Amino acid sequence: MKRSQIQIGKIKGIPVGLDYSWFLVFILVTWILAASYFPAQYKGWSAMAYWITGSITSVLFFGSVLLHELAHSVFAVKYDIKVRRITLFVFGGIAEITEEPKKPSQEFWIALAGPLMSFLIAFISYFISKEFSQYPKISAVFEYLFEINFILAIFNLVPGFPLDGGRVFRAVVWAFTKNFQKATSIAAVVGRFFGFLFILYGFMLMMKGSVVDGIWIAFIGWFLESAALAQVQRQVVSKLLAGHKVADAMSRSYALLPSDTTIQDFIQNNMLFKNRRFFIVEENGENIGFFTIHSMNEVPKEKWDTVTVKEIMTPISEMKKTTPDFPLLEALKEMDKDGVNQLPVYEDGKIIGILSRENIITYLHTMHLNS
Ligand SMILES: [Zn+2]
Repeated sequence: MKRSQIQIGKIKGIPVGLDYSWFLVFILVTWILAASYFPAQYKGWSAMAYWITGSITSVLFFGSVLLHELAHSVFAVKYDIKVRRITLFVFGGIAEITEEPKKPSQEFWIALAGPLMSFLIAFISYFISKEFSQYPKISAVFEYLFEINFILAIFNLVPGFPLDGGRVFRAVVWAFTKNFQKATSIAAVVGRFFGFLFILYGFMLMMKGSVVDGIWIAFIGWFLESAALAQVQRQVVSKLLAGHKVADAMSRSYALLPSDTTIQDFIQNNMLFKNRRFFIVEENGENIGFFTIHSMNEVPKEKWDTVTVKEIMTPISEMKKTTPDFPLLEALKEMDKDGVNQLPVYEDGKIIGILSRENIITYLHTMHLNS
């Protein structure tokens, strides 16, 4: 996700990015507004007027999506939960909240803040559109913002996890059952149910002749259903990993790389180690950094013979570490939180192995075979 987006700035210390897919949807929304929605509602404007009104509306619409995500984020930060970034993409917006909330009340407010913000924007837009009713171009913009934010708020309140409404629902079940896992399972099942309901409704619309609307609603339903299913699977993984330790899944073998190895040398000599994606960088017998094949992408080809692995590695001091007796599930959560794919495993101040996501997947497979 990182590479396919551009950062447009930071709000309250949270990076805000635009996914490349967003540009497509921005152009599409502007085009629909300027070429069909506004011309159908307001006759007799110039083409220029439709396009200017359409573009302004589109920008303000995405501004309101951003405010919705910011509302979630502000509450998360308030509860000391880190927000990695906010991204606008083809389905709207997403605030990457790194941890599960610690209490039902926190989840409740973080989830509800978004739809409440959308309602607030809808309310303000309604007020402005009425206030400026003698200026149709202004009231047209805010009339649309009123409708779209209202729909956005209602849609997000559908109690299908992982929609905001599903999270609110989970928070309530969690508060009653005092059991987070159970609440998640129940919310995910309800989420799948709503997903199927959307798909069914989509097909009904298609049969009645509203093909485009039908496909769109069925598609949203499918998206909801698979997101809820993924949540069920995460739940299963959590259950399987519970009680296991990092030592069970980590790989004890890892490759060392001298710090003065250039990218060119690395490619010529080390690519032969198939399946190895990461290496410990060593200098004077000490482990000083962590080098992944991925980090090579940042170096232009013509510099491969001069740039050394030391220059592009992640220094050990900046890396999260784990220990062999650390709970495996917690280690996985740490990786999710920091957006990394591996953790060096330390014992008595020395690296004794590496835990990667692949290790965990392989371990899950072997557990499955043994059971
Ligand atoms: Zn939301």
